[in-house]
Amino acid sequence: MRLIIFDVDGTLVDSQNIIVEAQCRAFIQHGLEPPTREQALAIVGLSLHEAFTTLVGPKGPVSAIAESYRRAFADLRTGGYHEPLFSGIDAVLRRLAVHPDTMLGIATGKSQRGVRHLLEREGWHDLFATIQTADDAPSKPHPAMILQALAATEALPEEAIMVGDSTYDMEMARAAGTDVIGVSWGYHSPEALIEAGARHIVETVPDLEAELVARLARHQPATSQPDGTAPISIP
Ligand SMILES: [Mg+2]
Repeated sequence: MRLIIFDVDGTLVDSQNIIVEAQCRAFIQHGLEPPTREQALAIVGLSLHEAFTTLVGPKGPVSAIAESYRRAFADLRTGGYHEPLFSGIDAVLRRLAVHPDTMLGIATGKSQRGVRHLLEREGWHDLFATIQTADDAPSKPHPAMILQALAATEALPEEAIMVGDSTYDMEMARAAGTDVIGVSWGYHSPEALIEAGARHIVETVPDLEAELVARLARHQPATSQPDGTAPISIP
């Protein structure tokens, strides 16, 4: 059995415009200078409390800004701001989901509400065997989201692959003892991902699918006996 766990923002969906704008509105509402685009994107992947603690410091109005951000994000979404899927993602997920002996999961800094909205919009209800959000676990890079996904699917750490665009995903996977693939189309640079522990980075969605399919093929459980010994080959 294999479990592929996907990050959402910057990996499956391109949410940068709505995230940057919502942060901007939240900061202005509290009379604070909004973060630069670079600063705003650097914290994508963290849960809101950790994200805003990073931006305003632990003594800043973290909870108030987080609440303003939540409202601004919801307003922008209903006001027509989109979080489009990266091109090709939908088809890749649907093919992987029906791959034999393979389950898909989500580990995201989004809220349950945010994930629910995405699943409804894309018709993804049946794709994921486990969904871990900022509401269910400590923020990345704490390994809890992955550990809970493993427990929920009864997968072993060595059977799981995390796929993400941020250093937090790389660090989380290392802390959980799972394999990890970095994607270069998100919000953290490939250099930063490598520094955070990525051993493999893919640059396109087709490359991601090819890499995952190759790893799934290398992990065919039918080739070993139940006791773990190699199969007896009969010429
Ligand atoms: Mg991300």
